[in-house]
Amino acid sequence: MAGEPQADCLFCKIVTGDVPATIVRETDTTVAFRDINPQAPTHVLVIPRAHYADAAALAAAAPELAADVLREAGAVAADEKLEAHGYRVVFNTGSGAGQTVFHAHAHVLGGRGLQWPPG
Ligand code: C5P
Repeated sequence: MAGEPQADCLFCKIVTGDVPATIVRETDTTVAFRDINPQAPTHVLVIPRAHYADAAALAAAAPELAADVLREAGAVAADEKLEAHGYRVVFNTGSGAGQTVFHAHAHVLGGRGLQWPPG
């Protein structure tokens, strides 16, 4: 069922604490943690506690929760002092776009110059 924890989902296990992560922010509805393979000096993932496969599924089923994720992405950027030089919020969606974990997550990337278009 939409939003229910999935036994085989890595990020559901980070939510429960069964898989360790370096958590930087938590709310009632979201968790933010440092990416284990950072692609920039700051690389934090913001996830909803509830399980949705990707950003589109999250936004369709739970728009207020999608807004929580975006709000927390902004809060991470503020905490990490990324705003002065800019930062990027990315939702890879589908394996062809590089999505490897099918629990919706926002990448918050900053702390270096970022190229456009991304590869
Ligand atoms: O967009 P994508 O699905 O590829 O992003 C998944 C991200 O989760 C990767 O950047 C990967 O480094 C990260 N990850 C993590 N901790 C884990 C497993 C994956 O931060 N235990």
